[in-house]
Amino acid sequence: MNKGNLFILSGPSGSGKDTILKKALERHPEIKLSISSITRDMRVGEVEGEKYHFISRAEFEEQLARDMFLEHNVFVGNYYGTPRGPVEECLANGGDMIVEIDVNGAKQVKQKMPEAISIFIMPPSFEVLKNRLSNRGTESEELVAKRLNEAIREIKCAYNYDYIVINDKLEEATEDLLSVILCERLHIEKNKKFIDEVLEKC
Ligand code: 5GP
Repeated sequence: MNKGNLFILSGPSGSGKDTILKKALERHPEIKLSISSITRDMRVGEVEGEKYHFISRAEFEEQLARDMFLEHNVFVGNYYGTPRGPVEECLANGGDMIVEIDVNGAKQVKQKMPEAISIFIMPPSFEVLKNRLSNRGTESEELVAKRLNEAIREIKCAYNYDYIVINDKLEEATEDLLSVILCERLHIEKNKKFIDEVLEKC
């Protein structure tokens, strides 16, 4: 069996990556999403175990010491980490998995797993990003300003990614993301075993 593909998805908060991802996964439920463990407070509407496991700093540090994270980062004062076990299991079983992580985490994953495919979700303009963040209304002005500064830093890292998806129109952005994923499944490197098997029976 071929190993599955690991897709790294990044983009500044407000780029709309959550919405694109949700739509893409609805259409392709076979693609698994890595559930990050994080220490920030739960926002209104968030559900434990859906996108994140909300754990304490002590728990996070204990798991970190036991090398249970594929990557981790501190973002706006909180820990965010990708549990290693589910990713390794999914890929070993031939499944595709998406890790939605920030640029620091993406760098760590690429170093450990260079075959991972990285995709950066961009807002169509900085103005749009600013409006999306301010209109969210779930955070203080100070936190929004911090997130905007982070966004500039993250966008500067977009050059290092394999693909870029511009989220201007949601449907098109979803289509673009899925195109990358489906295209990577057809890559010759992922299908050599299949060719071997056909030839073996010739
Ligand atoms: P938010 O607090 O808005 O949900 O996420 C803040 C940032 O943390 C986003 O850029 C998101 O992609 C990133 N993030 C979410 N989970 C992880 C993770 O497990 N590791 C890393 N490095 N970043 C993550």
